[in-house]
Amino acid sequence: MVLALVEHEGGQVDELSLQALALARSLGEPIAALLVGAGGRDAAAQLGAHGVATAHVAEDERLAAYAPGAWARCVDELIERTGASAVVAAGTNRGNEVLARVAARRDLPFAANCTRVGSDLAIAHDAGLQDLTPLVVTRVRWGGSLLEEARVHGPLALLTVAPHTVAAATVNGAAAPAVEPFAPALEPADLLVQVAEHVDAVQAGVSLAEAKVVVSGGRGVGSADGFGILEELAGLLDAAVGCSRVVTSAGWRPHTDQVGQTGTKVSPDLYIACGISGATQHIAGCKGAKKILAINSDAEAPILGSADYAVIGDLAEIVPAITAELRRTRTP
Ligand SMILES: Cc1cc2nc3c(=O)[nH]c(=O)nc-3n(C[C@H](O)[C@H](O)[C@H](O)COP(=O)(O)OP(=O)(O)OC[C@H]3O[C@@H](n4cnc5c(N)ncnc54)[C@H](O)[C@@H]3O)c2cc1C
Repeated sequence: MVLALVEHEGGQVDELSLQALALARSLGEPIAALLVGAGGRDAAAQLGAHGVATAHVAEDERLAAYAPGAWARCVDELIERTGASAVVAAGTNRGNEVLARVAARRDLPFAANCTRVGSDLAIAHDAGLQDLTPLVVTRVRWGGSLLEEARVHGPLALLTVAPHTVAAATVNGAAAPAVEPFAPALEPADLLVQVAEHVDAVQAGVSLAEAKVVVSGGRGVGSADGFGILEELAGLLDAAVGCSRVVTSAGWRPHTDQVGQTGTKVSPDLYIACGISGATQHIAGCKGAKKILAINSDAEAPILGSADYAVIGDLAEIVPAITAELRRTRTP
C-alpha cells in the first residue's frame, strides 16, 4: 500500500499532487490518498482516474487552516491504519514541510524533490541485504543545479516529487475511489503552528512567473529609486520586473519580485539581468530563460558565463539608452 498526501483547493486537486500520484504508482499499488480540509470529498472524486483506490478525507473543522503538525499527525495515523510501505507527496512547501515532520516523528530518512524511483536489487543482493532492499531515488538538489542519486533505507519510504518533473497520467477504466471519513486524534500541540491569515500579493502588470520578458535588477541598481529606469524599460517591453536577493534583503523591492532558488523560478523568452553578479542561487531561478542579456560593469562577472548577450558598462547609462532607442524605433 502506498499512501499519497493530496493537496486540493476549492474542491479541485492540485496539479502537482496529480504528478506525485503518477510517481506513487511506480512504487506499487493499491494507492490510498489523504485529503485534509474542507472540499476534500469533492476533490477525492477526481482521484479514481489517477489510480487511487481509497480516499481518506479529514474534514475536521480544526483542520480548516493549514497546520503542518496536524497534517503530519494525520499522515502518521494513516500509516498505522493502512500499513503503508511508502508515503508520497508533491514537492511543494506544504508537502516537504509535512513529510519532514513525519520523518522527525518516526526518526526516518526523507527524500525530498524526487524525479524518479527504482530499487537497487543488484546492490542489495551483493551485500546479502535482499530483505532490506534500499529504494533508489533521483532527486533535485541545489536549486536544480544538481541531480543526486540516493539510496533510501528504512521500513517506510517518505518521498516528495519535484514539481513538473513527472507528468500526471490517468489510468484506464478506474472507478471512483472509496471515500472514508477520517477523524485524526489531534492534540493541542499539533495546532500550535497554523496559518492565521491569507494576504493576496499586490500585483500590477505582468506576472513574474509568466512574463515573456523579465527586466531584473541586482545590487548594482544601487537603491529602490534606481529601479525606476528598469520599470520604464519593462513598461515598454510588456515585461515584469524581477530582482536578486540582495535587493529584497535591502528592502528595495518586495520578496515576491525575487528570482532564484529561494524566490520565483522564471522562464521568459528574454531575461535582462542588470547589475546582477550571477550567483548560483540566482541562476537557479532564471536558467529556464531562452536568452539572457547581462548588463554589468564587470567584464569578469559570473553572470557572463550564463548570458547569451552582454553589455559591459554602467547600467545607469545603458538601460536608459536601450529605452530611448526603443522609443525612437517605435515612433512613427
Ligand atoms: C541559501 C541561499 C539562498 C539564496 N537564494 C537566492 C535567490 O533566490 N536569489 C538571489 O538572487 N540570490 C540568492 N541568494 C544570494 C546569492 O548568493 C547572492 O548573494 C545574490 O544573488 C547576489 O545578488 P546581486 O547579484 O544583486 O549582488 P552582487 O553579488 O553584489 O552583484 C552585484 C553586481 O552588480 C554589478 N554592478 C555594480 N554596479 C553596477 C553598475 N552601476 N552597472 C552595472 N553593473 C553593476 C557588479 O559588477 C556585480 O556583478 C541566496 C543565498 C543563499 C546562501
